Amino acid sequence: MKKEDLLKKLKKKIIVYSKNFPGKNLVFSDGSYLSEVMIIGEAPGRMEDKMKIPFVGKSGKLLDKMLKSIDLNRNKCYITNVVNFRPEENRKPTLDEILIFKPLLFNHIEIIMPKKILLLGATAAHAVLDHEGPLHIVRGNWKKININKNYYNILTTFHPAYLLRQPNAIKIAWKDLQEFQKLK
Ligand code: URA
Repeated sequence: MKKEDLLKKLKKKIIVYSKNFPGKNLVFSDGSYLSEVMIIGEAPGRMEDKMKIPFVGKSGKLLDKMLKSIDLNRNKCYITNVVNFRPEENRKPTLDEILIFKPLLFNHIEIIMPKKILLLGATAAHAVLDHEGPLHIVRGNWKKININKNYYNILTTFHPAYLLRQPNAIKIAWKDLQEFQKLK
């Protein structure tokens, strides 16, 4: 089956969970599904829900700058979130939600088949790497995950929303991004 069709099929599977997020829109992805670079955030916020596009609010503006710093832009990568609907009051996704969306996210990764994946923040590190402690333990180090016998290179860095609150972490994030850029 073609990537477009697989993505359509995945969307249909995800839309079933809209019942858990009354009144919220599906925020599926942005960028190019042909890209070898995949970026995974946490969950949509208010602007993302309104526009049905990930990372279009304040964090998105910073993400765009982060991408630009390593010669990337939205059209050169594929962007999605762990949870594809906006949790009420912008709360963090619950453990149950992460567990529900994890297989759907892994399915998403398998369809895109990226060469490398950038995880933004703790929720993405939890869902993809099963990492539950402080983020600094995993960030900046390449990991590999195996999904159905295919290996994916993963690097974790801070979520842009965190960087907006903790600007002194920006230097570290920039280092992570350079490390991410190195893997060709
Ligand atoms: N934060 C995220 O994790 N994802 C978005 O799409 C927007 C903000």
